[in-house]
Amino acid sequence: MIAGGGPAGVMAGFLLARAGVDVIVLEKHADFFRDFRGDTIHPSTTNVLAELGLLEQFLALPHSELAYVEGEFGDEHFRVGDFTHLPAHCRCIVMMPQWDFLNFLASQGKRYPGFRLMMGSEATGLTRAGGRVTGVTAKSAVGEIAIAADLVIGADGRHSTMRDAAGLQVTDLGAPMDVLWFRLTPRPNDRHAALGRFVDGQGLVMLDRGDYWQCALIIRKGTAAAVKQEGLAAFRARVARLARRESVDEIENLDAVKLLTVAVNRLADWCRPGLLFIGDAAHAMSPVGGVGVNLALQDAIAAANILAEPLRRKSINLDDLRRVQKRRNFPTWATQKIQVAIQNNVVDPMLTKGTTPKVPRILRWAQRWPWLQRIPARIIGLGVRPEHVRTNDVTSRM
Ligand SMILES: Cc1cc2nc3c(=O)[nH]c(=O)nc-3n(C[C@H](O)[C@H](O)[C@H](O)COP(=O)(O)OP(=O)(O)OC[C@H]3O[C@@H](n4cnc5c(N)ncnc54)[C@H](O)[C@@H]3O)c2cc1C
Repeated sequence: MIAGGGPAGVMAGFLLARAGVDVIVLEKHADFFRDFRGDTIHPSTTNVLAELGLLEQFLALPHSELAYVEGEFGDEHFRVGDFTHLPAHCRCIVMMPQWDFLNFLASQGKRYPGFRLMMGSEATGLTRAGGRVTGVTAKSAVGEIAIAADLVIGADGRHSTMRDAAGLQVTDLGAPMDVLWFRLTPRPNDRHAALGRFVDGQGLVMLDRGDYWQCALIIRKGTAAAVKQEGLAAFRARVARLARRESVDEIENLDAVKLLTVAVNRLADWCRPGLLFIGDAAHAMSPVGGVGVNLALQDAIAAANILAEPLRRKSINLDDLRRVQKRRNFPTWATQKIQVAIQNNVVDPMLTKGTTPKVPRILRWAQRWPWLQRIPARIIGLGVRPEHVRTNDVTSRM
């Protein structure tokens, strides 16, 4: 039983069903359609899709590709990451709306008899017996239900209800910023596919999504209401300056500007007897590097690799669940360590002093020796300890 049909939950459900495990995924929304979520599919994930024989089908869906990440500190332009040399099937970040990706994964899951996705069904609590979790209670279209399970996987995101129900607390690592998301319309002289621009204490990230630019304005934590209170004209002026545009009249009102409250945290203990947390429910990631979706997917792959066999044998125990945490602890810790270092050394001073951040020396070196640009691309694109699918397709045994 998986609570939460985001990237972690749907991928785990698909892989477990593919390995011959009966699995129910509960998703509280009636569809996957939600704007402004993580839409970045990194080479670690496209490698996994290739291992599953699904890459061609996946790439047939509408998407755009980012081969380079670039940045501007004031008026100085830098190439930060070059993905074109990665040892990967896709040497780029694939940008695809998360709902398309989730629909794709769900359609793959539905090919297996053990996969059941219940949309519009919200897990509300845990059931317990003999000191272990034995299932969930849920609100569904047919009313209140209880679902018994050998294992509950909490993949219900960073405001996890399952985590609260289990009484688990996250350790907060802190973040100096929040992010405001909105769209801009492409213009003929737009040049860069992915660009972060930092000037006079402000930062804007722009991602080319084909028919629009997905933009993230970085603001000091807790100031979203104050920024919005300044009014539409002030917001437009702030964005226009950062985006090097005369005007951004396409932002018609501030309702179109959505807040992402940045959180960086993790659970000390990802499991209890009969219960495991993965993805954002186990660790919310900073937006630095845009790696949240991919970490969540990697957790799901590791969980399926480790748990498919004991689940099929109906012998799952706490040690199996601990093996998942042991496998994924280091990648989570290392990635958050890098993110927090960038937050503290680049983002926080920029927001506090209101100045253009000092260009990190490594970035200057990377312009002189471009092979250095492959290092951030590797960290972002493949991450720490990339997972591979170790389970077999149940239909190949039939
Ligand atoms: C605005 C925004 C922009 C982002 N941009 C990026 C980016 O560019 N790149 C990136 O990698 N990451 C990005 N992220 C982070 C990324 O979206 C998450 O890290 C990732 O989606 C985590 O996946 P998950 O499956 O663990 O959790 P989620 O994606 O949060 O999925 C959890 C799912 O569980 C469902 N759910 C919640 N509670 C219940 C319940 N009680 N019962 C049943 N279902 C439930 C939710 O509806 C949701 O579908 C962004 C996040 C936000 C909010």
